[in-house]
Amino acid sequence: MPVDPMVFPVPSRLLLLLTLFGLTFGLTLAGILARPIESLSLFWPVNAVLAGVLLRNPRHASTGGFALVYLGMVAADFACGSSWKPALWFNLCNLGAIVSIWYLMSRLPRIHRRLRTPHGTLCLFAACGAGAMVAASLACIVAAPWFEQSVRATWLAWFSEQFSTSVLVLPLLLTAPSPRALGRSNTQPIRLAPLLVLMLSLALSIGFGGPGAIAFPIAALLWCALIYSPFFVSVLTLIAGSTLIVAVAQNLVHFIVPQSEPGVTTLMSARLGIAMLVLGPLVVACVSHANRGLMARLEHQATIDHLTGALTRSAFTRRANALLDSRVLHTPHAPLTLMMLDIDHFKHINDQHGHAVGDQVLQQFALTLQEQLHEGELFARLGGEEFAIIVPGLAPELAQFSAERLRRAVQDLRISQAELQLTITVSIGLAGCTDATQSPPLDVLLAQADQALYRAKAQGRNRIEHAEGLRQRG
Ligand code: GH3
Ligand code: MG
Ligand code: MG
Repeated sequence: MPVDPMVFPVPSRLLLLLTLFGLTFGLTLAGILARPIESLSLFWPVNAVLAGVLLRNPRHASTGGFALVYLGMVAADFACGSSWKPALWFNLCNLGAIVSIWYLMSRLPRIHRRLRTPHGTLCLFAACGAGAMVAASLACIVAAPWFEQSVRATWLAWFSEQFSTSVLVLPLLLTAPSPRALGRSNTQPIRLAPLLVLMLSLALSIGFGGPGAIAFPIAALLWCALIYSPFFVSVLTLIAGSTLIVAVAQNLVHFIVPQSEPGVTTLMSARLGIAMLVLGPLVVACVSHANRGLMARLEHQATIDHLTGALTRSAFTRRANALLDSRVLHTPHAPLTLMMLDIDHFKHINDQHGHAVGDQVLQQFALTLQEQLHEGELFARLGGEEFAIIVPGLAPELAQFSAERLRRAVQDLRISQAELQLTITVSIGLAGCTDATQSPPLDVLLAQADQALYRAKAQGRNRIEHAEGLRQRG
């Protein structure tokens, strides 16, 4: 299984195991210190965090790794003065939750495990539910002597806390970008409006109160899910969910749960509701992220020729027309040159050496031309072995020198194929508009350049010809 270098970038095994122990110890210690004295925690994120860490670093999810996690938790309990019996039993319940979540999620293919699909998000909910059930059931069996409540109340308290905390915390770890992905990501400015509306709706939940208040942030969370990355949405669902849980616990959102159901407290009910509430935004976040990725890939495929990296014909047409239109807006009109290039006797290369070698030649040819281009110039594959270049700002009468540079670069190219060394030549037809003329339609320019190219071929190939009527200077 591939290792995701998110949490442990250092390769030494001993160091990694020590880090796992230290992380467990530190998280448990923080959890214990943050919890109210003599009561269960409002949040116990240690289990979800460790399950996430082990899912992102599968190498550590061995018997030894789990034993180390257990030791780390017990050691932290001892460090806080717990006696050995509750420390051993309570942490067995925690370990049960970690192992269950890890086991169920690690069965999934990576794409689901990293919550790239709605299916993965639904499975995460099921795994968190199973983990919470295991922890709650173990608590009722092995840790019952330390609870004063009924078995039912104990079970519900553990289950609702573990389920809601895991659902809020685990997506963060599973969607967190690896350092490599972080390096690749483009830093676009973040849109603030959905974030502000989310904060406002959270404030409204607390200000307005009542049982419906926990659903107030749902619209803002869905808006965030349509715009932000799944990781950022996970951060927001964690913030929104835990804010609401704290608000309910502190009685800021005034719920009234009839006490006809002994053992069911307002907090338990609210926790389960809040956990369910974040499912929608998380699913929407992964669907819209997948859609954005698909659209970007489609856009790339429609714009860039996969073999040569040049613009496709349709993308070229769009951009060239935009260039011609913008040229009309400037007075005096800027000149522009269109070159049409066609590899000479390319069919022979295919016939003699095969199509694969022909493809290599096309790639090398395109690369050579791209190395000669400057910013703002358009380079496209019009089809087969025919390419076009638009040089804005260059009058066609003055383009002989630039075209000659390209022709020579292609002529000097040596394409090595096994024991072969191939050389190629290119013919070039030039057309364009001078600073005085209005922009002719792109079709007309292409036809003129094509006709010049035809003459270059007819006159012996490996040469440059100008369209009729263009006087060559320079
Ligand atoms: P000319 O000097 O007159 O241009 O002759 P030519 O052989 O280069 O021109 P022609 O148009 O007769 O042949 C072009 C060939 O390019 C025919 C076609 O099989 C081949 N071709 C078109 N697209 C590809 C491609 O993507 N890969 C490869 N390997 N060959 C291609
Ligand atoms: Mg050709
Ligand atoms: Mg051709």
